[in-house]
Amino acid sequence: MSVYCLGSINIDHVYRLPALPLAGETASARAYQPGLGGKGINQSIAALRAGARVVHIGAVGQGDGWIAAALAGHGIGMDSIRAVAEPTGHAIVAVDDRGENQIIIYSGANQAQDPALIEATLSGARPDDILLLQNETSHQVEAAALARARGMRVFYSAAPFALAPLLAVLPHVTHLLVNAGEARALVEATGTPLADQPVEAVIVTRGAEGAEWISAGREPLFVPSLRVTPVDTTGAGDCFAGSLAAALDRGEAVEAAMRYAAAAAALQVTRPGAAAAMPERAEVEALLT
Ligand code: ATP
Repeated sequence: MSVYCLGSINIDHVYRLPALPLAGETASARAYQPGLGGKGINQSIAALRAGARVVHIGAVGQGDGWIAAALAGHGIGMDSIRAVAEPTGHAIVAVDDRGENQIIIYSGANQAQDPALIEATLSGARPDDILLLQNETSHQVEAAALARARGMRVFYSAAPFALAPLLAVLPHVTHLLVNAGEARALVEATGTPLADQPVEAVIVTRGAEGAEWISAGREPLFVPSLRVTPVDTTGAGDCFAGSLAAALDRGEAVEAAMRYAAAAAALQVTRPGAAAAMPERAEVEALLT
């Protein structure tokens, strides 16, 4: 059993400086730190640390040694990651001494996925495998349709939320993952309650409160969040998604898988960073016993 993930791979270029530059100004940064980012790669790393066999499908720029080393450092295989003409997706993040920030995002290679690579990779998948998707790459619909044709479960994180791509992919999605704000936006835009969305299940994460599994014809399952003191909640939703997929992939029942994901995400928010903060399975199991 495997978790496939067609997902974004980014470099976050983080600059620290006394004050953010105004229009027309040039500002010198005091410190620079590159970091691995992107919802897709965050979810893959979460699933990998949760113990799943993970195949990440993605695209990066040509000859990007930093990204290759970062992915290798996290144990992500490069077989289904293609180097394309566009630069690696990246964010330019400026943070000033008051903690205010300015962010520029360029999705670059993430929007130039190779459909032949997606098809070739998914041709090795089995019906009990899972495909993870988020709204940060091109070719979401093609990948979802291919996966469904093979009988796979397709998990879609509707983030960043945008109605048109969501409605395009929804007919091929089995499990829709949204946070509380995205759930509200979806119900408002479609006029359809979560229980009546055309999927097997909608999973709603509600931060420190908990998470819900909603399927038509059965009582919603609510799993409370663990009480922790958060340090950095960046990537909490991705941790939940990747961990849930890994737990279901190894055959855990829905309630056990939701509890596993909630414990993993609770650990994740107690540490700084996104991908780097994803917990190992043994740490999560220790929290659950
Ligand atoms: P992000 O955008 O930060 O990645 P999100 O908005 O997609 O997050 P949330 O609903 O905030 O997703 O969080 C996802 C899951 O992470 C929650 O369902 C919960 O299990 C866990 N979580 C988040 N914040 C906390 C917290 N303060 N305490 C415990 N668990 C938390």
